[in-house]
Amino acid sequence: LLEIKNLQKSYGDRKVLEGIDLRVRKGEVIVILGPSGCGKSTFLRCLNGLESVQGGEIQYLGRNLAEDQVDWREIRQHIGMVFQNYDLFPHMTVIDNILLGPLKVQKRDKTEALQQAEQLLDRVGLLDRKDAYPRQLSGGQKQRIAIVRALCMNPDIILFDEVTASLDPEMVREVLDVIQELANQGMTMIIVTHEMGFAKSVGDFIVFMDQGKICEIRAAAQFFTRPETERAQHFLDIFQ
Ligand code: ATP
Ligand code: MG
Repeated sequence: LLEIKNLQKSYGDRKVLEGIDLRVRKGEVIVILGPSGCGKSTFLRCLNGLESVQGGEIQYLGRNLAEDQVDWREIRQHIGMVFQNYDLFPHMTVIDNILLGPLKVQKRDKTEALQQAEQLLDRVGLLDRKDAYPRQLSGGQKQRIAIVRALCMNPDIILFDEVTASLDPEMVREVLDVIQELANQGMTMIIVTHEMGFAKSVGDFIVFMDQGKICEIRAAAQFFTRPETERAQHFLDIFQ
């Protein structure tokens, strides 16, 4: 579905991604782990056109997204992203936040989009909050809404960047459960997280990054039993 080859990203002189190679097949859940500052967020942002890249390829449906003339507004309908700080519009209700993309960008039929939005809200247990404003919701609820908003565009793949990092512990589970359910249903996802238990249960593959490079890619069960590199072992020792 997505094939990244030798991806290079610098901020000024500072190299942040130094030749990332990764292939994502349909239905796969890839979890990216690695120490703070290793380039995880930057990598996801490159896949969503939020950062320009200095070299390499991002092959998606026969196109190289690392080239210049890409219409990212169009691509973002297919490659969705959910961030750490749920970026819902504060002056819009939950349902209006969700419908913005489907109606304004995708120009879909209102009745049909509304029906899908309500179905998705029901699935995450928030249908009764559809007319609420973001400030009236808990962090966990806002994050579930942000996921519904991404899903309502019917993307091929969703990128998650530490979506539970700013949540109180009791709200983390409800958000992770939603993502786990998406995984069970075959959604293709790339997930950056510091929740190791979740990484192990949701991931097909673990990508371990350090200093702008991928150090190892292994099946999740194997990675957590015995990582290949010392750096990954050290990383796990800190978390476990
Ligand atoms: P964390 O786990 O803390 O979220 P990360 O792996 O997501 O870390 P990135 O946010 O991708 O790391 O940052 C990678 C490196 O790029 C860091 O050294 C960071 O300081 C640098 N960096 C990130 N954004 C910018 C920017 N806009 N300008 C300059 N440097 C940046
Ligand atoms: Mg980050």
